[in-house]
Amino acid sequence: MEPKKKRTRFSVAYFVLTIFIIWIFNDMIFRPYIARELEVPYNEFLGYLSSGKVKSVGIGADRIIFMLKEGHPASQQQASSLIHNVVRVDDTKLVDRLIEAGVDFSEIKQSEGMLRALMGWVIAFLPLFLIWYFMYRKMGMGGSVLSLGKNNAQEIHGEMTGVNFKDVGGAGEAEVELREIIDYLKSPERFNKLGAKLPKGVLLVGPPGTGKTLLAKATAGEAGVAFFSLTGSSFVEMFVGVGAARVRDLFEQAKKKAPCIVFIDEIDAIGQARSNIAAMSGNSERENTLNQLLAEMDGFRANTGVIIMAATNRPEILDQALVRPGRFDRQIQVTLPSEEGRLGILRIHAAGVPLADESDLERISKITPGFSGAELANVMNEASLLAIRRGSDKVALRDLDAAIERVVAGLQKKTPLSPEVRKKVAYHETGHALTAYCMKDADPVHKISIIPTSKGALGYTMQLPTEDHYLRSESELRSRLSVMLGGRAAELTVFGLATTGASNDLEMATMLARRMVTEFGMSKTLGPVRYSNPEGAYLAAPSSNRSDISQETSASIDREIREIVTEAQNAAMKILESHRNALDKIAEVLQENETMTGDEMKKIIESL
Ligand code: ADP
Ligand code: MG
Ligand code: ZN
Repeated sequence: MEPKKKRTRFSVAYFVLTIFIIWIFNDMIFRPYIARELEVPYNEFLGYLSSGKVKSVGIGADRIIFMLKEGHPASQQQASSLIHNVVRVDDTKLVDRLIEAGVDFSEIKQSEGMLRALMGWVIAFLPLFLIWYFMYRKMGMGGSVLSLGKNNAQEIHGEMTGVNFKDVGGAGEAEVELREIIDYLKSPERFNKLGAKLPKGVLLVGPPGTGKTLLAKATAGEAGVAFFSLTGSSFVEMFVGVGAARVRDLFEQAKKKAPCIVFIDEIDAIGQARSNIAAMSGNSERENTLNQLLAEMDGFRANTGVIIMAATNRPEILDQALVRPGRFDRQIQVTLPSEEGRLGILRIHAAGVPLADESDLERISKITPGFSGAELANVMNEASLLAIRRGSDKVALRDLDAAIERVVAGLQKKTPLSPEVRKKVAYHETGHALTAYCMKDADPVHKISIIPTSKGALGYTMQLPTEDHYLRSESELRSRLSVMLGGRAAELTVFGLATTGASNDLEMATMLARRMVTEFGMSKTLGPVRYSNPEGAYLAAPSSNRSDISQETSASIDREIREIVTEAQNAAMKILESHRNALDKIAEVLQENETMTGDEMKKIIESL
């Protein structure tokens, strides 16, 4: 887990501030030299001179500075000062007059004034320069300020990334999808001959620390091609106009080195939806960069041998223009690892670490659902540190256990689930899945999981529709309601009590039921009347001032909603009670394996 880089932003405000500072500095430095308050008229100067009050005189190109003898201030207000100056007039007799008055005089050398002015500017610019320089360093641009605008993509040859798929654990599905890209990069001619078009852009999507960056490197490593990598956030910290220039440069370089991979890490930093950006400051720079990126992606034909990969953990905020066909049109999900995946990752990071007992890793992989690859790497590292502190030369189970605690403490909320909680979650999810399986109109189950998600859910059941639904029938909606409530129904059937885990399900179910009653006219008592506002925002709160709905109607809407939801839950409970065997069996397998596909579930049900 890399520490999040602090964002430094360069803005117009800095420039204004600096100009202001320079102005003040200049004034301070040149004030004694110019000293306008102490300026006297030329005739007054001549008067001092003839009356013998002047001590010495310095003659500059356009000014004369003179010093009065003590006790002869030029005027009352200026009593404290003896140095005065006067604008030089074209007086050919000046030297004669000075000799006559017997004062010391000399010329103020022009170069001296110049030097002084120059020093003034250097001193004034120094703070600016330092600020600039340090900001530049912070941006990770390395030393040279002069490389401004040149992109900093470090080009590493694929063979030299040293990363291969065997360094990545538990990314089975993502790996399979990346294989095709690797085949293409290895021999583009073969694909070109058949006219097969590859996606230009591949987006790796997944929670932080799941190995997206690592996978991209491994892809380049496996294909043995050059790997250009850039981080999205580094674009944002650029000076105005540089982000777009960097993008241009990057693609130029990459085209020369084809076949190769261009990898843009954390692309959400530049790829945010443009409406989102508008609300923030510094928008136009990001927008320019994004536009340049889009233009570059459109600009080169598919099959030029350059594959663009990008990674993000917030795909939902990406600009739609980025994910449309011809750009990042292939998305690869990089999920949190399953138990088997975790074991693989632990083995990778345990290479070279002497273990007291090899089988410890299996135990650890069992109790760390929800841990990302980066966290598991962290656990191994902490464990070896703890073993060293203990004075042992082998990492034992107790080190691993303590390391998990340490990592968990730094993460909050990611406590390993206790067996009881796991059991409840397993039954809950099985409830959803089994109801969906048995309801004839419900979408088929794709996957069940009791690995906690990074968004805080303890598990999930994923259904995939078999076809696009533009219209849903009433019975489909009722089935869907039952599936939503299936988790809760399972808890009630098995444990007799519901948990708080179902509150989100209830919320969604109530919302759907409300729409069925107020928008779709699916209630028998209320009839085919629309009761909600045109925008679809329902009158929800009793305070809603829709005068055309009586309190009576309002009450019967609530009654109808309750009835529909209760009916749906009863239907789910009936299904689960009559399939109790399947419910128990699936929940048991789920507790063991953490995840299950729809097909695996079907097999279990059919085998009973
Ligand atoms: P992401 O880019 O998804 O945030 P990274 O690729 O930067 O994650 O992962 C950070 C580190 O965590 C990697 O350098 C690696 O040590 C470890 N790691 C993450 N996922 C895996 C994995 N699947 N297999 C092995 N190590 C992993
Ligand atoms: Mg990363
Ligand atoms: Zn649920």
